[in-house]
Amino acid sequence: MTTVHTIAAVRDALREPRRQGRVIGLVPTMGALHDGHLALVRQARAECDEVVVSLFVNPTQFNDASDLDRYPRTEERDAQLASEAGANLLFAPPAHEIYPPGFSTSVQIAGPLTESLEGANRGPAHFHGVTTVVTKLFNIVQPDVAYFGRKDAQQGLVIRKLVRDLDLPVRIVLCPTVREPDGLAMSSRNVHLSDGDRRRALGLRRALDAAEATVAGGARSADAISRAARAALAECSIEPEYLAIVDPQTLASVAAVDRDVLVAVAADVGGTRLIDNTLIAANNGRTG
Ligand code: AMP
Repeated sequence: MTTVHTIAAVRDALREPRRQGRVIGLVPTMGALHDGHLALVRQARAECDEVVVSLFVNPTQFNDASDLDRYPRTEERDAQLASEAGANLLFAPPAHEIYPPGFSTSVQIAGPLTESLEGANRGPAHFHGVTTVVTKLFNIVQPDVAYFGRKDAQQGLVIRKLVRDLDLPVRIVLCPTVREPDGLAMSSRNVHLSDGDRRRALGLRRALDAAEATVAGGARSADAISRAARAALAECSIEPEYLAIVDPQTLASVAAVDRDVLVAVAADVGGTRLIDNTLIAANNGRTG
């Protein structure tokens, strides 16, 4: 695996594979790689000829300066892990390579997809930052396929809409959430959790389990599901930023589980912001 830091070097590295018609897969990440990221890299390895991993802590998608400052940065270790998982090229640009002096363009998707849930709680700039940097990464790498995780379910919808609205020639693949053995969704931010908060953080998964169990038990009203999920959070002394039961495509609130629903939760656990979600099928089963 080769590590490059400039856009010119990415283009150089991919010129020949592209000329040969090799299928290029991109896995965009902010680094501090864990098994969730590596599952995306492995899937890209299985489906593509060239696997590019980008590693960029994108400042414009952080609404909280201290969250950005303390975001873990482990580039050397990331390079080792990405290589072992099958990446051919690691693109780890400095901020000024992506946002040179005078940079003033923003790619923004308007409407509920970016304004609800994460958009409502982190502010509209969050998804503007995501869609701007992902557009740039797509233009830099020009992948045939790009891989994202379902842990960031709303982000996946936003990226799919970006690709549709701007006719970007890339196929988006969404991969299942990878969890710790006890159920906590893997996240680069989990390293910040104290032992006590690590135990409390399980409340997010327990809330989703409670939602699923409530539907499996025959309840269909969103209120009943929400009450059960909130009770599980309260048992772990977690006050959610949001606990939402929504349409998995539009993110509009639903009153009843008469079709598949997405249950999404975000919470601050001891100063660390965590998110998780699950897709519940109307026919009782958990589907993701
Ligand atoms: P991040 O570095 O947090 O921006 O994540 C980079 C990509 O990895 C995004 O597409 C995330 O959705 C995905 N990802 C992060 N955590 C997980 C996880 N636990 N399981 C699956 N995908 C994940």
